[in-house]
Amino acid sequence: MPLGEKGLRTLSNLDNHMVYLDYAASTPLREIAKAALSAFYDEPYSVANPSSLHTLGREASQALEAARKSISQATQNAFKPSEVTFTGGGTEAINLTIFGILEGLRNQNPARTKVFISAFEHDAVFDLISPLKRAGFDVITIPVTKYGLVDVAFLEKNVDEKTALVCVMGANNETGIVQEIATIADIAHAKGAYLFCDCVQAFLKTDLPYEAIDALAFAGHKIGGPKGVGAMLIKRDVPYAPQVFGGGQEGKRRPGTQNLPGAVALGKTVGYVFENNAAIEREIERKVALVEDFLFADGTGILPSVSQVAAAKENVKRVPGIVSAYVPGFDSGTLILALDARGFAVSAASACTAGVAGGSRVLRAMGFSADDAASSLRISFDERVSDEDLTAFCEALLDIMKTLPKN
Ligand code: PLP
Repeated sequence: MPLGEKGLRTLSNLDNHMVYLDYAASTPLREIAKAALSAFYDEPYSVANPSSLHTLGREASQALEAARKSISQATQNAFKPSEVTFTGGGTEAINLTIFGILEGLRNQNPARTKVFISAFEHDAVFDLISPLKRAGFDVITIPVTKYGLVDVAFLEKNVDEKTALVCVMGANNETGIVQEIATIADIAHAKGAYLFCDCVQAFLKTDLPYEAIDALAFAGHKIGGPKGVGAMLIKRDVPYAPQVFGGGQEGKRRPGTQNLPGAVALGKTVGYVFENNAAIEREIERKVALVEDFLFADGTGILPSVSQVAAAKENVKRVPGIVSAYVPGFDSGTLILALDARGFAVSAASACTAGVAGGSRVLRAMGFSADDAASSLRISFDERVSDEDLTAFCEALLDIMKTLPKN
């Protein structure tokens, strides 16, 4: 299917629809996924359980395997189809991967008790710190630099033969900054430790060194696939102890009847985005330039966020489609509500931390004040958003800034 997917809607406030610019939180379903979901229920095999022996069951299982293959191909086959486990989204994949690997490794080598977790991981990883400590692991938070990168020198100095796992995200969900995963993998592997990558924001949005990553997680809804379906990818030689019990599905790693329509639509979405990646990325970059040229022009009172400036200066890579803006003097929550009232949906930081006092944990971890962090907006989109809607958003934001009282 050509880029632009026929039928993609322009979400225009002119016809009373919200202009949705919060794709880093979740994306609208792509046409390819919608088509896969609606065709699914016309398939005779849709009635069956993919674990059943009869013909319909076997056909259902084949559909699942085709989806697994498509995901494997998107990793340049670095992860084999048999190393792909379907889950109910990113958070579940992350939890099952981290706990599963750590228990599996502890069974083999109880001396490896250290777990490194970067300071700006998403809550889906960060909130595991307390349970991991309770389970007897020594959790070390990896500091991050003001350039939005995990402090590689810290890892170099501190990862040792007692280290079990290093957890660093592929790209950050607030800044979009891509992490130095290949280097971090080398550091972990030099000491015999494993690397887990939360790739929920990075998958199919940047070139990841899949050969070097031991385990990763991603979610369908960040790439135009269905919500509530994702996968964990774990290389065969990585130890793993199941965390959920009750059946043999997914190699006993995620027992229970699979979300077959979700997995089939996920496989199609992954295939489409993988094939069209270069064109998609070009189009998003063009739209990002449009927004940045508008918002960051002289005299608007809006600045690229400090993380964005630092990233540009240091030539740090960002995934396309996230604009981090700093609106000095304004509270991001107030701006979001005023924009919402005019039909524009954006976010302050990660959707999951909205409303947390003191602003974004990510920006604060990068060394910015709570005030800076509390005046940040995240505008995120992909190639499907129209230029008109982006321009209308920029105009609305500037207009709102004229009327809203400053802090
Ligand atoms: N990790 C990152 C980096 C994310 O951005 C998100 C979602 O916002 C998640 C994990 C959680 O994924 P899910 O919402 O599919 O559970």
